Amino acid sequence: MQRLWAPWRSQYLKSFEESVVNEENGCFLCAAARHPEQDAQRYVVYRGEGAFVILNLYPYNGGHIMVAPYEHVAALEHLDLDAYQSLCTLLRDAIAVLKEEFHPDGFNVGANLGRVAGAGLPDHVHFHIVPRWSGDTNFMPILADTKVVSQSLEEIYHRLHQAFQRYYHRQ
Ligand SMILES: [Zn+2]
Repeated sequence: MQRLWAPWRSQYLKSFEESVVNEENGCFLCAAARHPEQDAQRYVVYRGEGAFVILNLYPYNGGHIMVAPYEHVAALEHLDLDAYQSLCTLLRDAIAVLKEEFHPDGFNVGANLGRVAGAGLPDHVHFHIVPRWSGDTNFMPILADTKVVSQSLEEIYHRLHQAFQRYYHRQ
């Protein structure tokens, strides 16, 4: 389980991450939260009331997303109840959207709270949702090619963005 949230990183993505992280006090989630006009570039697929959904740039598997509050807090108990409920609702809805769009056989859902628990970004709490398919590998070998990764991210971004719109349109 230890490597679950510590995926492979390419040099290209790493330099992208560094350029993003240098903004907003080093927090790429805050940078994404505060720049809705850049949602497509930052792969923010959906914005809820108190939380948002963003693609993981170092996917453990296709469709690996993160759900985070807008607020920069390290612990769930530091969120007010509205933001916490918004986060939990979005976590539920995001799983439903992933099911509809990608038909996975299961999910890994979880949060790494604190660096010792493996959090790459310990100061801004977030949940990972990783769709799983029967027979998928720990690291999809195809993702070892950075070009393929970016194309996959683009495609997954557009599919999920539309899937969220459809999902909430029906609610
Ligand atoms: Zn933050």
